Formats: sequence, structure tokens, C-alpha cells
Amino acid sequence: MNRLIYLPLGGAGEIGMNAYVYGYGPKGKERLILVDVGVAFPDMDTSPGVDLILPDVSWLHDKLDRLEAIFITHAHEDHIGALAHLWPQLGKKVYARRFTATIGRLKFEEAGLPVDQIVTVEPRPATVDVGPFKVQFVPVSHSIPESSALVIDTPAGRIFHSADFKIDHTPVVGEGWDDARIADIVAERPVKAMTCDSTNVLSTHEGRSESTLAEPLTELIRSRSGMVVATTFGSNVARLKTLAEAARAADRTICVLGRSMKRMIAAAEEAAVLSGFPRTVTPEEALDVPRRNLMILATGSQGERRAASAQLSRGKYLGLEMKEGDTFLFSSKTIPGNERDVLRVWNAFSEMGVQVIDDQNGKYHVSGHANRPDLE
Ligand SMILES: [Zn+2]
Repeated sequence: MNRLIYLPLGGAGEIGMNAYVYGYGPKGKERLILVDVGVAFPDMDTSPGVDLILPDVSWLHDKLDRLEAIFITHAHEDHIGALAHLWPQLGKKVYARRFTATIGRLKFEEAGLPVDQIVTVEPRPATVDVGPFKVQFVPVSHSIPESSALVIDTPAGRIFHSADFKIDHTPVVGEGWDDARIADIVAERPVKAMTCDSTNVLSTHEGRSESTLAEPLTELIRSRSGMVVATTFGSNVARLKTLAEAARAADRTICVLGRSMKRMIAAAEEAAVLSGFPRTVTPEEALDVPRRNLMILATGSQGERRAASAQLSRGKYLGLEMKEGDTFLFSSKTIPGNERDVLRVWNAFSEMGVQVIDDQNGKYHVSGHANRPDLE
């Protein structure tokens, strides 16, 4: 008697650390796939000295001969962050779309792991055949390029694994949400089970498109007389593009501060999901640009101490310095648990006479997740 199993190794019901096992076969002999290998970031107050929390893959240890493959839905750290840490224990082929695979290979390179174990997959109808599973990547809109839901076909029926998504028909970077694409999947074969992103299930208004931000951001940046520094998630390539284009429209030269952000832009360009990103200058070159014509994109939207934003809040960073009359913009949302770090940065800037502006209820930030009405 064959059965279908689903086991979250971390992730369902909490934010961070997504890792899910699907299995099909006779009890105790199911063939398995692993979907996502994310990390969670620890609370510095309750677990000081801990850098990352990894999913518990010990359940898989005596079942590795039954593990067929690993699939990564998108390149957010809570979906891919533990891959290079745990891959040596797992040792199976990793399938992902181009942008995600590019990020994965960078991580493998850094860790000295074989990059050829990461296989680039085209979206549906391309199909990865492993054991009893046929897996397709379905493009969805989210706050990072080439996010995918998975269609997982098994002899027991079709599973739709939504991963993270929002309903955005005009997402600035990448494919928009496509109702017909989803209707097709259901029409082709009924969906027996669906696992769904519920990050924003408590938000009761409809989600908004990334493209709604261009105008208010341009207006804001144009209205400032000093230097403007904006932060957001480095992986939110669409937002970086929106911010950079707003800066250009406001006659400002752009400088990117922070390694992870530069890396994401480079990876997005390499994977051909980002084009037309305005030319940027180095921090050194930025020193010669008048403050009112300069816009800096900086890492550290969560107040991370070592990121560029926090460095600027403590004084000079790579020769650049914030001054009275400058503006600092959080084009992001603070993840619960990071409030204190964000506030520390905020206060430090305020003391310098820098005006700090946050998302202001969605004027300067939209979420990457579907809200309740979208889920319905
Ligand atoms: Zn995500």
C-alpha cells in the first residue's frame, strides 16, 4: 500500500527556515524529495553568539538512500540559506531556476562544494523526473527574481506547493502573476493537496504591486536637498531597480554599499532577470558627487550591525558620512524580532540630524507576500 507523506522540517507555522519533505511509496520505504533548505536568524537576546539556525535534517540521516533530489523555490535565505551548510550531509542533486541556481552556485563556490551539483531548470512545462515524482517550476511573483511554486506530480495525485508568492501583475522585475497559468495547472489535473505561503494571512486589504512605488519614491527623492540613503533587502532586486530609477529620475548618481546587495545585482544581471539597472559609482567616486545629486543604496534594512546602514549610523564608512539635512529611507518592513536593532540605527541617524523615513504604511514599501484577500 503506497502512501503520500509531507513533513515540514522547520517552516510551517513559523517564519524562517523552510524545509519540507515529500514522500511517496510503501510505508517506511517512501522515496523522498526535499523542498528548500532555509535558515532562520536567531534572536540576539535569547541566543547570543548563534549566527544561524539550521533546519533539523536528522530525520533524513538514515533515509539518504531514499532521498532523490533537492528543489529550491527561490533564493531568499529562509529558503536557500542552509543549503551549502547541510549539502555535505545530503549529497543530492539540487534543482532550481536560473537566478536561484546562480545564487546557489556562489554559495557552493564559497564553501568549496561541487557547483555542478546544482542543475538549472526551465519553468513549466519543463519537468524534472525523479523517482515517483515529476516536478515543475511555476513562475510566481515575489520580492526576489524567478520565484517559483512547484507542481509535484505523484502517482497519488498532484500537489501544488506555493512557496512564497504575492499576486502582482506588474512586478517591475520578473514575471507577473498569471491567473491563467494557475488555472491551467488545475485544469490539466486536479490538485489533491496545496501547501501555501501564509506570512500575511492576517493582512485584510488586497496586496499592492511593486510598480505603485515608483512615483512616490521619485517624488520623495526629488524633494530632498541632501544626500539620500535607502535600504531594503539586498535580494529584492525589483525594489533596488525601483529605487535606482527613482534616483535617476531625480538627477542623482547611485552608489551601492554592501557586498550582499552588489552580489544580488550581479547575479540578477548574470541570470538575465535584470537589465537596464542605472550605472553606479564606487564609494570613492561618490565622494566627488554633490550631496544633493547622490543616492546610496545600502544593506542593513534590519539594523544588522555589520551592514552598511549600521556602519553609516556609527560614522564614516568607506569615506562616506551622513550629515544634518540628509535623508535615510527604510524601504522595507522590520521583521519581528529586529525592532531593537532597527531602532538603534534610527536613533543614531536622528541624533546626527538626518531625517529618517520608513515605509509609511506602504507608500515606500509593498510586501512580497500575498494578503488574505489574495489567498482567498
Ligand atoms: Zn521568500
